[in-house]
Amino acid sequence: MADILTEIKAKLPKDKEVTNINFEAANIIVYTKNKDFFLDNKGLIRTLVGEFKKRIELRPDPSIIMDLEKAEKEIKKIIPKEADISEITFDPQRSSVIIEAKKPGSAIGQSGENLKQIREKTLWVPLVKRTPGLKSKIIENIRKVLYENNDYRTKFLNQTGKRIYSDWVKGKKKGWVRTSFLGGGRQVGRSCILVQTSESRVLLDCGINPSANKENTYPYFDCPDFKVNEIDAVIVSHPHLDHSAMIPLLVKYGYTGPIYCTAPTRDIMALLALDYISIGFKEMQNAPYKTIDVKQMVKQTICLNYEEVSDITPDIRITLYNAGHTLGSAMVHLHIGNGLHNLLYTGDFNFERTRLLAPASTKFPRLETVIIESTYGAKDDILPTRKECEDYLLKIIKDTNKRGGKVLMPVLGVGRSQEVMLILEELMTKGTIPKMPIYVQGMVWDITAIHTAYPDFFNPSIRKAIFHENKNPFLSDVFTHVGSHKDMQKVIDSKEPCIIMATSGMMVGGASVEYFKALAENPKHSMVMSCYQPEGSLGRRLQNGEKEIAFSVSENRSEITKVKCEIHTIQGFSNHSSRSQLMAFLHKLNPKPKRIIVNHGESSKCLDLASSAHKTFRVETNAPRNLDGLRIR
Ligand code: ZN
Repeated sequence: MADILTEIKAKLPKDKEVTNINFEAANIIVYTKNKDFFLDNKGLIRTLVGEFKKRIELRPDPSIIMDLEKAEKEIKKIIPKEADISEITFDPQRSSVIIEAKKPGSAIGQSGENLKQIREKTLWVPLVKRTPGLKSKIIENIRKVLYENNDYRTKFLNQTGKRIYSDWVKGKKKGWVRTSFLGGGRQVGRSCILVQTSESRVLLDCGINPSANKENTYPYFDCPDFKVNEIDAVIVSHPHLDHSAMIPLLVKYGYTGPIYCTAPTRDIMALLALDYISIGFKEMQNAPYKTIDVKQMVKQTICLNYEEVSDITPDIRITLYNAGHTLGSAMVHLHIGNGLHNLLYTGDFNFERTRLLAPASTKFPRLETVIIESTYGAKDDILPTRKECEDYLLKIIKDTNKRGGKVLMPVLGVGRSQEVMLILEELMTKGTIPKMPIYVQGMVWDITAIHTAYPDFFNPSIRKAIFHENKNPFLSDVFTHVGSHKDMQKVIDSKEPCIIMATSGMMVGGASVEYFKALAENPKHSMVMSCYQPEGSLGRRLQNGEKEIAFSVSENRSEITKVKCEIHTIQGFSNHSSRSQLMAFLHKLNPKPKRIIVNHGESSKCLDLASSAHKTFRVETNAPRNLDGLRIR
């Protein structure tokens, strides 16, 4: 038994009947057979938490809790009918029960009265969740995978804890810190940073390069610093493919350690990886892994909430902060070597409040180095305001509607599409644009369903609409789900004006390209691109005014599509910060960093932002290339 467990056990008196004590990743779980002690430990656990500075949780020994069927009946008796329970799921390993209810407030009862009763009567630890507005198959599947592999999870979490506490010494402060850029250095794509300390090795993101030819698709796994079996932890900032698509490959290569992210990121990341397997990437390029690897990734994922502090190795403690980029997207704060160094990795972030999300956080307990993205990092990257964008979109929709045409919006399934859905829903409800069907293609719909399961991650005004006014804009009847190929054909054949939202937003495959082929040759239709189009992508070629696009139909035959529909680009719906927001973010950072490292931008943008940041803030700045290593402490 690791030292810390022995020490904690020694502090628990014999009459408390502690039967077991183990790790659940960074958390320490104490099991007791003593019912009274479980129900009221008289502050003993809190004292231990204060002393060890670790999260310690007290749970009833499985032998004293009520059996499932009886407990379920008891719960239904205690919770009033009007709470409208949709599901009760028991988690025997954690002695907890999740109660999904349409009215969580009534399920919990005044000052938690109902929960207290459930706890006392059954000894199960109840957790109440709001029933998601839309059913999500992926969430059901992920739950099933975790449930079916409960024994594996228990062992995995205990093993993870053992590694975290393997070299447990109170108050250590020494060593060094080095970052290596395996991808995302002076480019947008294949983000992957290796952080090494004297004790541990962790990976920040592991994505694919969406616009590259075959050789430059993956991060530099052949970099001598990188050995998959030496990685202690992987942290995922958000689920976009350029940040997460290669994680199942790590697992396939033999990575057995934990993958940290928020719960929405886990679910969306799994969904996107499965989509990547089924449609491939660009034409003919298949995913380098299979469904089983995605399943294994889910089994190794540990979800954290924003601002929940967690040890992940003997000398690294992480905290995820809101990044404002996608639902559950995170900036990663690493507290290394007990205060030796503090590193913030922004991932992709938006420093503007959107309809969906709150702006990125800027306040951290400590900070010496920041790694910042620079997608729009150049001085001339002035994005139009949100108002200008909305007006522009409104005009395109109105004009196209008058012509009886369709508006195709290729969107990233995650983030932008939900933002645009909120805008369109509002415009139609207010009568600013004529009411017409909005067809939401499979992937975008699935991701929207995941959104409805995690309302806590929305910005306060949507949260309020959902929690207090029971108004969920995503459930509006203007949205129609397009699930099958047959449905898709119906949308294409219909004579009525409509709006179509489909992936991929970067036009590198998927339904958006199918719709484009079907609509491009008719001038009454319009296409609106609203996200970053990488160099070499179909979207960028259309933006550059190409009028004839060849699509291969078989290995040595291609067909030409003539572009006659209107092509528009609206840049300001970006869920990245504009240049001025990047600078404003750096300005607002509290405390001020001593070093700024710029990545995730085309070469000129990284260099431009690094140079401006140096002049403005008088600190060391870097714009590392891929394979560069940088000692930061
Ligand atoms: Zn992103």
